[in-house]
Amino acid sequence: MDIIEHMERYDYEQVVFCSDKGAGLKAIIAIHDTTLGPALGGTRMWPYSSEEEALVDVLRLARAMTYKNAAAGLNFGGGKAVVIGDPAKDKSEALFRSLGRFVQSLGGRYITTEDVGTSVRDMQFVRAETSFVTGLPLSWGSSGDPSPVTAFGVLQAMKACAGEVYGSDSLEGRRVAIQGVGKVGHALARVLHEEKAALVVSDTREEAARVVRGEVGAAVLPPDEIYDAECDIFSPCALGAVLNDDIIPRLKCRIIAGAANNQLAEERHCQELARRGILYAPDFVVSAGGVINLSFELICYDAEASRAKTAEIYDTVKRIIATAKAEGITTAEAANHLAEDRLRRARGIKGLYLRR
Ligand code: NAD
Repeated sequence: MDIIEHMERYDYEQVVFCSDKGAGLKAIIAIHDTTLGPALGGTRMWPYSSEEEALVDVLRLARAMTYKNAAAGLNFGGGKAVVIGDPAKDKSEALFRSLGRFVQSLGGRYITTEDVGTSVRDMQFVRAETSFVTGLPLSWGSSGDPSPVTAFGVLQAMKACAGEVYGSDSLEGRRVAIQGVGKVGHALARVLHEEKAALVVSDTREEAARVVRGEVGAAVLPPDEIYDAECDIFSPCALGAVLNDDIIPRLKCRIIAGAANNQLAEERHCQELARRGILYAPDFVVSAGGVINLSFELICYDAEASRAKTAEIYDTVKRIIATAKAEGITTAEAANHLAEDRLRRARGIKGLYLRR
């Protein structure tokens, strides 16, 4: 990959390669855009098969955070970090403390938190070296795991879509297929059960699916069969790029709303979904509850205010659907425009000289 050319094309600000052999750290931090404020986005740990794969992932994820934070009305930019390694084997205090030092070296331009493969506990080690980390334990007076708030936001998006497709926000009796019942998917299954939705779930970890079946009576399907499930709503809550040429023709749902980042393999897949009469709720809008919760921790944590702000995802999804219809564009394009308009307006603020 020609990195600087790619950075120029998509307006990245900075990419930092981090190496600490002693601590076993190989990481990349990407800062996409800090127009609205410091870049906020989690640290993903994954056994990438190559450095190039890790780089592509961190760049995509960092840019998605710019859009997510902008569309959610937060005063944060977009960034992300990836650690190359197996979360099951390669974690250590030294590794995360080392990462913390690299985050600190950026002087607050990037604020990290947990993501796939990392946990609140790992962030405690990062905190030993930098204050530019959020999503710390409840016992520390912080906001804890953001996943339940993310799930609450996904629920708001589903209701907004149900109102559009079925003429009623109620999810009672609606059949929802959840792919991945990890932290978010599990919390989502609980709130959907309270809404009296019928659930079908899948997870590559059989035990995770079994727990959800026991708790809320969900039907369980093998991982590859969830795409063929007869359902009203499909909710991807595992990994990205599931909406692709192979999978879209198999889907039987009318709505897609899930927490996974970068669900569309390519932007054109949103057109294909619309052509098939499937309403796609843009992932970065749907899954913003977690980052909204973290943003409150960075100011002064207030669980009720965080939930109220997350509930606005309902209105945002409604607005995106209305724009898409009025302008004859996809919901993904309408969501991009929402974020880009806010960034454009912020960039237009007069550059007054301010003594620091
Ligand atoms: P997680 O790791 O706790 O859960 C993911 C689950 O998906 C795991 O149980 C895993 O076994 C399962 N899985 C992986 N591949 C699968 C497959 N092919 N089929 C079925 N199941 C599969 O992660 P999470 O925190 O629940 O996040 C889920 C997604 O939502 C991720 O893409 C994450 O980036 C995104 N997200 C999470 C949050 C949050 O608050 N945690 C916020 C925004 C976005």
